[in-house]
Amino acid sequence: MEWQERAPLMGLWRARDCLWLQVLDHAVYWARVVSRRHRHGVPPVCGRLIALKKRRKPRAGISGKLRTLALNPARTSESHMLTTTDHRRDRAGLTYVYPVLSRRSGGLSIGVNLNPNNACNWRCVYCQVPGLRRGSAPQTDLERLGQELRGFIDDVLHGDFYSRFQVPEEQRIIRDIAISGNGEPTSAPAFDRVVELIGAISEEFGLVGIGEKRRDTVQDLDVLPPPCPPPARGRVQNSMASTGSSQYSCPPGAGEIKLVLITNGSLVRRESVRHGLERWGEWGGEIWFKLDSATESGIRRINGYHLAPETLLRNLEAAATLCPTWLQTCLFAFDGKPPSDAEKQAYLEFLTEALNRKIPLKGILLYGLARPSLQMEAPRLSALPAEWLEAFAETVRETGLETRLSL
Ligand code: SF4
Repeated sequence: MEWQERAPLMGLWRARDCLWLQVLDHAVYWARVVSRRHRHGVPPVCGRLIALKKRRKPRAGISGKLRTLALNPARTSESHMLTTTDHRRDRAGLTYVYPVLSRRSGGLSIGVNLNPNNACNWRCVYCQVPGLRRGSAPQTDLERLGQELRGFIDDVLHGDFYSRFQVPEEQRIIRDIAISGNGEPTSAPAFDRVVELIGAISEEFGLVGIGEKRRDTVQDLDVLPPPCPPPARGRVQNSMASTGSSQYSCPPGAGEIKLVLITNGSLVRRESVRHGLERWGEWGGEIWFKLDSATESGIRRINGYHLAPETLLRNLEAAATLCPTWLQTCLFAFDGKPPSDAEKQAYLEFLTEALNRKIPLKGILLYGLARPSLQMEAPRLSALPAEWLEAFAETVRETGLETRLSL
């Protein structure tokens, strides 16, 4: 800007050697600038700095986030009510840990999602992951996962989590910690270290007993107490409140919760996965291994993956010998038709073959379509009638395997 423009006192400006006039002229100029900005709603520079400062909130850490949820009554609204149909992974505003009210178990399941990127190596038609894409889990931030899990369990056991999320009185009990997220969890590069961390934190809070296998391996170290007596039935949080969470105490309720890994089992041949599964078993955990079809075409159609049934059987064998394993099967109608007789026959033959090979299965978990698919096939899927599911469950029971059905 030229000095002539800036000088409203043109005539006087020329008397440049008059210092007072120059000061006066600058004052007039800035008064005009400020009033123009004010008229157009532009905050003055110093105002903008203050506004920026106000906007810049301190970064909320894990405990900060949990505290924010706890302290903000507006968050304790209907949107924070936990229901059995709401399995959103971001319910607690955390990256890895999320709460689920389980209809099946009638209590709280603490979910661990290792796939915040919604990536899976399979693409099941019934999958409820929004924006599912092919891929693997990213590198897990173990420190963050540890902070989230510790903070969350502490909030449930000692904070006001249940009232904030309006959990019904009869469901205020931790039932399990489940590694189950928006993709295949065993694709996490540090899967075995995740397992170790979850096991250690669960034990730290007295939520799991010390697995027999693990006890055998570390007994010689002389650091473990004698085995806990069989756990008293009761609410974990109540017993913890009265006993504290000493690592080596035997609070009533210890060992009552399950550690569950929900997996499609396709990566079981990886060394870190095998090691993780073995440690999961040693921590007292179990695997829910996906088996939706026992034919190659069925696996391709339902799970969007090329896999021969024989490979699936070998993967199952590898998993079940490392850690107690349940088979988990989702049953639904595709284009209005239930699974064909050929499909049902192949499924039963698969189970028989697993028994012939002495694969140590804990049993079969059958379940129907409880929540809508978020994949493009969703309109083609529908729930099967309860009678159909019950009849099929009865047929499966004839193999001698324990079979549980969730409608
Ligand atoms: S394996 Fe699980 S996460 Fe992956 S596509 Fe199937 S249902 Fe979804």
